[in-house]
Amino acid sequence: MGKGIDVPAIKKDFPILGIKVNSKRLVYLDSAATSQKPKQVIDSIYRYYTEYNANIHRGVYQIAERATEEYTSSKSKVSRLIGGSSIEEIVYVRNTTEAINLVSLSWGEQNVGKGDHILISEMEHHSNIVPWQILAKRKGATLDYIKLNKQNCELSYESLERELAKNPKIVSFTHVSNVLGSINDAKRITKMAKKAGATVLIDGAQSVPHMPVNVRELGCDFFAFSGHKMLAPTGIGVLYGRKEIFQEMPPLFGGGDMIRSVDFQSYTPNDLPWKFEAGTSNIEGGIALGYAVDYLEKIGMERIRDHEKKVTGYALEKLSGIGNVKTFGCGMGELDKRGGVVSFSIKGVHPHDVATIFDSEGIAIRAGHHCAMPLVTGVLKEGAVSRMSFYIYNDESDVDKAADAILKVKKIFKVS
Ligand code: PMP
Repeated sequence: MGKGIDVPAIKKDFPILGIKVNSKRLVYLDSAATSQKPKQVIDSIYRYYTEYNANIHRGVYQIAERATEEYTSSKSKVSRLIGGSSIEEIVYVRNTTEAINLVSLSWGEQNVGKGDHILISEMEHHSNIVPWQILAKRKGATLDYIKLNKQNCELSYESLERELAKNPKIVSFTHVSNVLGSINDAKRITKMAKKAGATVLIDGAQSVPHMPVNVRELGCDFFAFSGHKMLAPTGIGVLYGRKEIFQEMPPLFGGGDMIRSVDFQSYTPNDLPWKFEAGTSNIEGGIALGYAVDYLEKIGMERIRDHEKKVTGYALEKLSGIGNVKTFGCGMGELDKRGGVVSFSIKGVHPHDVATIFDSEGIAIRAGHHCAMPLVTGVLKEGAVSRMSFYIYNDESDVDKAADAILKVKKIFKVS
C-alpha cells in the first residue's frame, strides 16, 4: 500500500465542507448519492463561462475552438481513466440512467426479440432494472435475475450459471452495489457471460469514482457511469461502448451534431462518438468532468480505493461494537469485496428518524430504499435502511461522529 491520502488537505479543496449545519461543521456521508465538488472543478465551470463560452464543433473563432478542445480533451481523460482505447468509445449523456436507457433503446431495439432472455441481478439500482423491464415488455422478452449468495454479500455464481444456460442476449449488472457496497468480480462475470454469447453492460456508477477500472481488462461491451458521483456536476454522464458495437447501433436521437449530412428525405450519421450526441451538449459539464478526472488522478485511484477500504473497515468495526446495530453486505473479513458504502439499521428505529437525528448533528446520511427496492425490500426484507458512504474527504473522525450519532439515536429511542 502506498502513502495514505491527506484528508485535511483535501477537505480544504471542497468549499461546502466548511459550512455549518445545525451549528456543527458538515460531515458529508452521502457520496454514493452524489459527491461534493472541489474548487478546481467549480473554477473550471467559472472559467468556461467567463473566458470561452461558445458552442462546440460549430465555430471557427477562437473561443469556440477552445470550448471544442476542452470538451474533446475531457473525453480523452475519461477514456484514459477507464482504460479505453479512443474517444470514439466515449459518449456523453446525462447520467448512468440515461446511458443504460440508450443501450436498452438503441441496442435493445435491434438485438432483443420475442422469447429472448435479458439477465440482470437482484442487487441492481432501479436504473438498471426499469429500462430492461420496459424493453422486455415491448419485445415480449423475459427478464431474469442473478440471485445473491447466502450471506447477501455478492452474486451467486451457481445462480449465474443457471441463468446463463438460458443464453441471455444481454447481461447487465452493477460493478459495486450502492446498498451493500459489494464489489462484484466484474471480470469473472463478464467472462462467463461472454462465453454464453451475451453482450455485457456494467453499471459503474459506484466503481469508477472509487477504484481503478479498466474496461478492456474487464472485457465488457458497455460501461455506464455518472459524473456527479465523481466530483463533476450533475447532468453529465458517460456511456463507454466498444467501437464495433457502437458502429452497428442506430442513433437514438436525431438532430444537430449527430449527422454528417442531411437531405430532404434522409441523413448520414456522424462519426463516433458524436452519432449519439444529438443537439447542444452539456458543455460545461463535459469540461468540468475532465477537471474532476484530473483531480482524482492526481490523488490516484489505487490510493482512493485503499483509503476507502481503510475507512470502511474502521466503520464496520466501530458499528459491530454497538449493540442492536446491524450492517448489511460482506463482513469485516471480506474488505476486498467492499466499497465505501455501509448500510445499517438500528433495532426498532425507522431509518428516517436515524437520518433526522444525524442531521441534527450536522451529519448527512441517506435513509430509504436507495432506488433498489427489489434488493432492500425483496432480498434484505427491510422497509428501508440507513446508509453512510465515504469518499476522499472522509476519514475515521467522520466515522467517530457517526458512531456518536448512533448512540444518540439509541438514547432517544431507548434502545439497549
Ligand atoms: N447505478 C447505481 C449503482 C447507482 O448507485 C446510481 C445512483 N445512485 C445509479 C445507477 C443511477 O445514477 P444516476 O442517478 O446518476 O443516473
